[in-house]
Amino acid sequence: MQIKVVGCSNSWSQRPVSCYCLDDTILIDCGAGARKYFKRTKVFAKNIKNIFITHLHSDHFFDLILFVNTEITYKPKDEAKSLTIYGPVGLYNILDYFVKTIKVAGPDSQNVKIEDYLNIVEISDFNKVIEVGEYKITPYKLNHFDMDDIGYVFDNGKTKLGFSGDCILDDATKNFVENFDCGFIDCYHQKSTVAHMGAEEYLLLKKTYPNKKLFAVHCDDNIYFHGWKQGIKVVKTQKKYKI
Ligand SMILES: [Zn+2]
Ligand SMILES: [Zn+2]
Repeated sequence: MQIKVVGCSNSWSQRPVSCYCLDDTILIDCGAGARKYFKRTKVFAKNIKNIFITHLHSDHFFDLILFVNTEITYKPKDEAKSLTIYGPVGLYNILDYFVKTIKVAGPDSQNVKIEDYLNIVEISDFNKVIEVGEYKITPYKLNHFDMDDIGYVFDNGKTKLGFSGDCILDDATKNFVENFDCGFIDCYHQKSTVAHMGAEEYLLLKKTYPNKKLFAVHCDDNIYFHGWKQGIKVVKTQKKYKI
């Protein structure tokens, strides 16, 4: 598996926000402003066929509207749909609101049906495995204060790779971690908050699950630049990882 990190930071950082490209064709999250970093990360929007959104916070999904915009503007309605977006319940309504409000299709935008151009799959059944190419993808319902978050585990038969999005450390997150070999997990500040894991939780998970490879994302500046001194494996923006 190859992961290109377009961005791995949070809303308050100067660095690009959450957006990972798996094997050049799958995106995990596409936060606000992430798309302008595609070129320098060698990610090409035209190759993206599937997008998985962890939750509906701006730093995880806002640039999705650019994909929807492109499909509606340039793709004939009767052409086979080539893009599928998976995400939480509510994703369709929010994209539909954008399409109609910013008038993606010009004056006729009120009549546009997004589903004529691309597939949107809202995930509510967490027992259902999604198949994309060689991957079997299992969604996990994680807790992120008052916002639902979906952690995804991508399994290619050799390795199970997880992306947590934003979450706290509770039994749901422990179960998620137990089901991957390697994971990109929320590690925002030194201490946890009501919505995020922090360095303390990262180190606790590392101790509890010594055989798991844990990569820290969504980090504040202190952890991004100095976390390594505590033994935190911090993911770096615009780097390529082979798992
Ligand atoms: Zn976030
Ligand atoms: Zn969030």
